[in-house]
Amino acid sequence: MRNLFFNPVKIISGAGCVRDFDGYADLGSRCLIVCGRSSARLSGALDDLTGALSKAGVKASVFDRVEENPTVETCHAAGEAAREAGAQFIIGVGGGSPLDAAKAAAAFAANPHLKPEELYDGEHKSDPLPIIAIPTTAGTGSEVTPYSVLTVHSISNKKTFKTPKIYPKVALLDAAYTVTLPQSITAATAADALSHAVEGYFAKVANPVSDALAEKAMFYVGRGLRALNDGRLDSSLREKLLIGSTIAGLVISVTGTSFVHSTGYPLTYFEGVSHGAANAYFLADYVGYMSSVAPEREAKVYRICGVRSNDEFRELISAAVPPALRFDRDTAVKYARIGAEGRSAKNSVFEPSIDDVYLMFKRYIK
Ligand code: NAP
Ligand code: FE
Repeated sequence: MRNLFFNPVKIISGAGCVRDFDGYADLGSRCLIVCGRSSARLSGALDDLTGALSKAGVKASVFDRVEENPTVETCHAAGEAAREAGAQFIIGVGGGSPLDAAKAAAAFAANPHLKPEELYDGEHKSDPLPIIAIPTTAGTGSEVTPYSVLTVHSISNKKTFKTPKIYPKVALLDAAYTVTLPQSITAATAADALSHAVEGYFAKVANPVSDALAEKAMFYVGRGLRALNDGRLDSSLREKLLIGSTIAGLVISVTGTSFVHSTGYPLTYFEGVSHGAANAYFLADYVGYMSSVAPEREAKVYRICGVRSNDEFRELISAAVPPALRFDRDTAVKYARIGAEGRSAKNSVFEPSIDDVYLMFKRYIK
């Protein structure tokens, strides 16, 4: 017996869907909107949402202090804000950072005595508040995953809070909100989505359902990246890119991520490299490593993404790769160890050694 697929999120997509969605009041009469400092307003999502909530008779408060790679403490503060506002549900608006913060905030809101450091301590007394997710980046797929990836300073790394109870009830996808993204973030977040699809495709637990989703996600995101590189990412391709990233989220909701992500986390924590860009450093090398264990799949990744070789694949994601890293060999070895020893690194059909991961770093060190 084998569990192939489960995902409980209602996914609604299309222009104006945040304004048109008629289910807000089903979750309660008061909510807390959790977002970053600027993106929810800049993208137009917050205006659409507050208008729709007011029409539905739902009172909304806003917590707009979520930073990139949010800390557990920020999520705890958002949980307190939710309780103070008497919120019965939480709406996350933004990139993966606000969406992940919304999920942890939902757990803190429902559990007044839960301290920040206790988030990861097994079952909580009460279930998290229900969550609606509105992405403004096409990247993380957090709107359909049971994960909240948070910065935990006591372990000097990021740590995933994971429970089926934080699957959002509804994901509302309107690609118009991604138009205000700077090109570099569009590229980096797309590389994150591609990384989810690819890591899921090479996961030990990949199955025919996750494979079908991964292939579709690679196709959409690969096309989106090509269009971005050629300066022709129009609204229809943006929509595909966003749906592609959501589909890639469905993939990792089954397979999890693996060593591209575990290797990227120390770069984000210690060097401040954005999540998508950190993945972009390693993604092409990761696919290349598969030639020794899964050559047919490796070739299929290239074909689906519309490229002919590892070099062309590297070129496809090049806009997402930030400038060269500047640290010494010892630091690289330290990060390589964190990456190779991360639990999720073992999810992959190719299990990297520290040397393999170090070689991935070496390419970019100046
Ligand atoms: P992000 O950290 O949410 O946002 C990056 C930057 O983009 C922020 O400055 C943000 O502004 C800005 N931004 C977002 N949307 C915008 C828009 N439409 N227009 C203009 N600027 C916009 O980036 P992300 O890559 O989407 O999320 C990364 C986080 O998600 C990481 O913490 C990562 O670990 C996590 N993640 C989670 C999962 C999961 O399954 N839960 C999967 C992968 C990654 P503001 O600060 O104003 O918001
Ligand atoms: Fe990711």
